[in-house]
Amino acid sequence: MPVDLTRLGWNTRFADAFAPYAERGLQPARVSLEHTHIYRVFSGEGEALARVAGRLRHHASVRTDYPAVGDWVAVERDTQGDEARIHAVLPRKSRFSRRAAGDVTEEQIVAANIDTVFLVAGLDDDFNPRRLERYLVVAWESGASPVIVLNKADLAVDVNARLDEAASLNQSVPVHAVSCRTVQTLDVLRPYLGEGQTVALLGSSGVGKSTIVNRLIGRDMLRTRDVRESDSRGRHASTSRQLVLLHDGGVLIDTPGLREIQLWETGEGLSGAFAEIDRLAERCRFRDCQHRTEPGCAVRQAVADGTLTAERLASFQKLLDEQAYQARQQDERALIEDKRKGRIGAKALRKHLKSKRSGGSSA
Ligand code: GDP
Ligand code: ZN
Repeated sequence: MPVDLTRLGWNTRFADAFAPYAERGLQPARVSLEHTHIYRVFSGEGEALARVAGRLRHHASVRTDYPAVGDWVAVERDTQGDEARIHAVLPRKSRFSRRAAGDVTEEQIVAANIDTVFLVAGLDDDFNPRRLERYLVVAWESGASPVIVLNKADLAVDVNARLDEAASLNQSVPVHAVSCRTVQTLDVLRPYLGEGQTVALLGSSGVGKSTIVNRLIGRDMLRTRDVRESDSRGRHASTSRQLVLLHDGGVLIDTPGLREIQLWETGEGLSGAFAEIDRLAERCRFRDCQHRTEPGCAVRQAVADGTLTAERLASFQKLLDEQAYQARQQDERALIEDKRKGRIGAKALRKHLKSKRSGGSSA
């Protein structure tokens, strides 16, 4: 089954990055499923299984050099046409990462090239704007545009109050209330799923992410079955895919790793998610003000004036602490790596770690 690459999200930006690979006779493809050593990719000729070429593996120094679901890659199809070799990963437009399991802290990409991320919360008793704040930070780190989706509107006592509460977290982020019990309400999400647009969903377990995905692809069920029947390799059923092409445009990505994502790495995310605190902080007396006990703090002044809530500041500081902790862990990892490579001695490493643990550097 040939696939139109623009429907999959291919655009001039990726085409430009691909030019040198085109000269080498390679084809563009998008990763739709990741197993340990094998991938599924969509290319113009249809789907194929793919493995990472030896050269790419050889040059890969960190885990993020390997392909992830959503990545655009340069592949070489073999003569039979169903297995492909991945020679390169194109630069990513956005990426969601998590800390890889194991004793070293390592970044692992769980989804790439997402345009819009739905931050899903449930309007049942469990509704908690603090959790949305967290996901906003993750979204800003990734480079994808966040959209807040308040699901289970059928269970809400006061939908408008919740909408206001969510909208107040960040004025530039759209907020929608939907209910999977009334399928038409999900139509407000369709515009984000225009042709070639890639959407992913984040949110705690139980908020209704799977139900939303099923409803959004619902119209395609028949179509999906058609494809599967005409596909001689039917054992790779569409349900096992982590990247789904919708019938009327749009691509949905739902990977297990995305579901358990956490904060990673200090970056622009916090200031993006807490834009109003960032603006206030420009008027603090100290440039590195932590808004705790420093004199001349414009942020605490705003809390005193009632223009900023104490909860909002507290959750900002909690996330700041978490990021500082993670940054320290990453520093530790770098030091341990230095030791391993013989760049520093055991004594120096112990000294460094001790000074770090006693709070040598935090921000
Ligand atoms: P996930 O863990 O985020 O993927 O959540 P699920 O999609 O598995 O949904 C969790 C539960 O919430 C299921 O029992 C769904 O039927 C239910 N649910 C999902 N959306 C809605 C909704 O809009 N209204 C109500 N009342 N229940 C919903
Ligand atoms: Zn301050």
